Amino acid sequence: MERKTLDQRAQMTDLERLRHSCAHVMATAILRLWPEAQFAAGPPVDDGFYYDLEMPHRISPEDFPKIEEEMKKEIKANHVFEKVTVTRDQAIKDSESGRLGGLSERPGNPSKFKLGNLADIPEGEEITYFQNGDFIDLCAGPHVMRTGNIGAFKLTSVASAYYKGDEKNPQLQRIYGTAFKNKTQLEEWLKMQEEAKKRDHRKIGAEMGLFTMDPDYTGPGLPLWLPKGTAILEELEKLAKETEFAAGYVRVKTPHIAKEKMYKTSGHLPYYAESMFPPMEVAEEVDKLKGETLKGGANEDSSTHQPVTPSTSQPINPSTRYYLKAMNCPHHHRIYAAEPRSYRDLPLRMAEYGACYRYEQSGELFGLMRVRELNMNDAHIYCTPEQFAAEFNAVNEMYLKYFKIFGIEKYQMRFSTSAPEGMGKKYVDEPELWKQTEDMVREVLKNSGINFVEVANEAAFYGPKIDVQVWSVIGREFTLATNQVDFAVPKRFGLTYRDKDNADKTPLCIHRAPLGTHERFIGFLIEHYAGNFPLWLAPEQVRVLTIGEDEPLLNYAKGIVQELRANGVRVKGDYGSDKINGKIQSAEKAKVHTMLVVGPRDVAANAISVRVHGKGDLGAKPRAEVVSDILQAIKARRP
Ligand SMILES: [Zn+2]
Ligand SMILES: [Zn+2]
Repeated sequence: MERKTLDQRAQMTDLERLRHSCAHVMATAILRLWPEAQFAAGPPVDDGFYYDLEMPHRISPEDFPKIEEEMKKEIKANHVFEKVTVTRDQAIKDSESGRLGGLSERPGNPSKFKLGNLADIPEGEEITYFQNGDFIDLCAGPHVMRTGNIGAFKLTSVASAYYKGDEKNPQLQRIYGTAFKNKTQLEEWLKMQEEAKKRDHRKIGAEMGLFTMDPDYTGPGLPLWLPKGTAILEELEKLAKETEFAAGYVRVKTPHIAKEKMYKTSGHLPYYAESMFPPMEVAEEVDKLKGETLKGGANEDSSTHQPVTPSTSQPINPSTRYYLKAMNCPHHHRIYAAEPRSYRDLPLRMAEYGACYRYEQSGELFGLMRVRELNMNDAHIYCTPEQFAAEFNAVNEMYLKYFKIFGIEKYQMRFSTSAPEGMGKKYVDEPELWKQTEDMVREVLKNSGINFVEVANEAAFYGPKIDVQVWSVIGREFTLATNQVDFAVPKRFGLTYRDKDNADKTPLCIHRAPLGTHERFIGFLIEHYAGNFPLWLAPEQVRVLTIGEDEPLLNYAKGIVQELRANGVRVKGDYGSDKINGKIQSAEKAKVHTMLVVGPRDVAANAISVRVHGKGDLGAKPRAEVVSDILQAIKARRP
């Protein structure tokens, strides 16, 4: 957890202020019960707040009611959050006496973590306390005016965390809570949490047999897609490929690894090294490498599968480092560079469902949401500045089209821009280009009527970016994809096009991934649909259930299965001797979308009784009509 900059603090929302203030109130309450507690940091987080602390008693959820009781008293007292500016010497003195993060001085129990936090405050920056009632905290704020402004709150969980996130530091207790302006909002949130728990993608994923994790053999964060999950994944790819083809994209395919030079050029190394898997050292034969371009590949001529033993005449490079790719962009840039380009070739829209590997810390891994392999709905659009607005707009339109297909009603695009003070440090030093591209992006967003917010000083290193946030039907927020403008990296790779005036110019590059990664998007969809996927996406789209076991009936049922399968439908037959109610139950449990129930009477009438998950019995219809309805619904990707 890094210390927030003054800028970030100024940008805290009202709700974040309220939640952070509630952390102060929680600390006040804990100190009333355990005066020896030592507090470290208590920031607001996505869904609430936490405060890290150290004390002999281990807080458990059983302690929550009595802490909450004390918190209510502090809120009722309606104390002002009073700001006091002090000198560094004063703050050191108050830490040593145990006064900071305490209700009173505590001889022999210095505020050691506050002392450590104090050291992080840059020389020259104002040092401030905030006091509510007896509780004094070292804090730069901001807060609400009074403790009484905290409308409704709840403590939610306990965890442990290292001081300042460093495992060399002491392990602390982390108490999580949340707070809202009023009780209604808190109750809505609690209800959503409850529903989200039922819809947990890890739980449903296991029940439906979509994916599995195998940390011992495959490794943590590397999901194995089971046949049913693979069916969903391939439907998504199909959707992307059709949509991109219609929008004039071309597809490419690139290796999963590349030499160090690739990522040094892209700028990922050394800055991004911690998020990449460590390199592989490969000793390559220099002579062979030289011959490769002429002979057309070293692998092809090895008809015998003998291991190659380098002879002494072939000098060996000390080593070449290869990395698993963490991004597809550099590979695509090399494809761009593989041929001379003219303005007539642009825009060039290059798409690939590319696998990327990122070394997330094991503590950060979470189901499909945080993984180490990501299959990305990636594409890079190389264009001229004149083409930019139209291209960028088309990308946004594609997002909206997808939202409609998946029934995503609430979304927001978060447009992150640069800040003058970051030029040449956090951002490539091209103030003019920054301004131009940011203006272009802002124009497009405004003109298209898309729901967006603008956030200063959060852009990517090489250009402004847009994070796309969507809300699932139960109202939980997910960041699915980013959409970025890049005016710096094409230059680093020396990419050019010959313009009308015969001059070589650098193209702009748009990075986009509307469907994000398979992992995160499917994780989101599982919650969004609670596993009840629409027909086109359902892993098992149709199951044919028989009432009875006589031969003509079985043949009829098998004929339906065959007809559907021949038309690409994922269908199974349940021809066993179980009672029909049992068969329906087991299909419901497997979240089969459509059940086709057939008995002897249906055979005679050439009919089928249809049951749809969640809709129940829809009655009998002619076989041809049922089949054609199913095929049409799939083709139209009906929600
Ligand atoms: Zn504070
Ligand atoms: Zn990219």
